Amino acid sequence: MKLLIKGGRIINPALNMDIAGDILITDGCIAEIGQKIDGAGAEIFDATGYIVAPGLVDMHVHLREPGLEAKEDIYSGTRAAAAGGFTTIACMPNTKPVVDSSIAVSGIIQRAQNEGVVRVRAIGALSKGQEGKELAEIGDMVAAGAVALSDDGHYVSSARLFQAGLLYANMFDKVVISHAEEESLVEDGHMHEGAISAMLGMRSRPAVAEDIAVMRDVMLAEYTGARLHIAHVSSANAVEFIRQAKKRGVKVTAEATPHHLTLTDEAVIGFDTATKVNPPLRSADHVQALIQGLNDGTIDAIATDHAPHAAEEKDMEYIYAPSGFAGLETSVGVILTSLYHTGQCTLPQILEKMTIGPARILGGEAGVLQPGAAADITLIDPDREWVVDETTFYTKGKKTPFSGQKLKGKAVAVFVAGELIMKNGEVLK
Ligand SMILES: [Zn+2]
Repeated sequence: MKLLIKGGRIINPALNMDIAGDILITDGCIAEIGQKIDGAGAEIFDATGYIVAPGLVDMHVHLREPGLEAKEDIYSGTRAAAAGGFTTIACMPNTKPVVDSSIAVSGIIQRAQNEGVVRVRAIGALSKGQEGKELAEIGDMVAAGAVALSDDGHYVSSARLFQAGLLYANMFDKVVISHAEEESLVEDGHMHEGAISAMLGMRSRPAVAEDIAVMRDVMLAEYTGARLHIAHVSSANAVEFIRQAKKRGVKVTAEATPHHLTLTDEAVIGFDTATKVNPPLRSADHVQALIQGLNDGTIDAIATDHAPHAAEEKDMEYIYAPSGFAGLETSVGVILTSLYHTGQCTLPQILEKMTIGPARILGGEAGVLQPGAAADITLIDPDREWVVDETTFYTKGKKTPFSGQKLKGKAVAVFVAGELIMKNGEVLK
């Protein structure tokens, strides 16, 4: 079985490649990349006008399975990923029960093979039940296929436990992912602390809560020499701490979400519960610091923190609604509209953060187009204009702060192991 993806602009950040060319796929793998490949006998996929990129990688997704299938499951979540242009996603362990054992990790991997349409990597919990009291069975989970460890959703309050987790995960060369918000400072807070929260009279989550948490975690990573990844960075000081730590050689990486990179706390003014996220949407100075961090390499990855909820959970008063919304299907459009079309970032920069950046953090094979690699490929039309209509989403979580927005840029085709699984937004399996 031969397939030729013909005539696109191939942007392959891992190899600093940006060329007009073709990709020949045989038996699910990339056989050749180059200009004017002779595709005799191959089926042709016309990519004229499109960007041809490595399959996008999202290292922060909540698939909600097991136990929370009213919000999302592996079937719906992986289809949302495909619709959004992703070929590899990593799912967080804050499910019911928490993924803190090898059997739970195996279960997710097995279910994803049976039900999923994209590759799913499992992240195991750092502590048992994500309770922050006792380390989970890290070695067993890694043996079962866990790619990282995280108590995402919670900060690990005990510095001692977090340090032990860093050291233990590091023995297996796995990264610990921190949800960095000092809990005593964010309890009952619903939005960023600033002029808008004062105006709305809403209890808030100050940026300093994130700063303190990131600072502690970075110091422990430096002390132990272990690998640390900071999830959904949103504050300017946190970006600066990470920047300085990287300069000192600390093994710290970081991600930012499309919403933190493009929205401010002003979005909360209408009390749309879709704007309620942890950490919260911050003010414009924080957003600018994040974009600067993206551009200077402080931030390694763009990750959605896709966190769907059932409609009846989000249709509540703001202070009672759960945090998070479904980000997989709007990520490419939001990022290209707000960062590329405004001239703040280039396409190779953006695609690096959505392919090889996260792939390197998770380890394993993904995020690069090269002969011999699995043909996981995403085609993007950077100029396609579309309006966000959440009723067409594949995810079960229909709430989005981008509802009704006109975006420019969309994933138009996705191949996983050479198989076309999404075309023009429609998932084909
Ligand atoms: Zn989180």
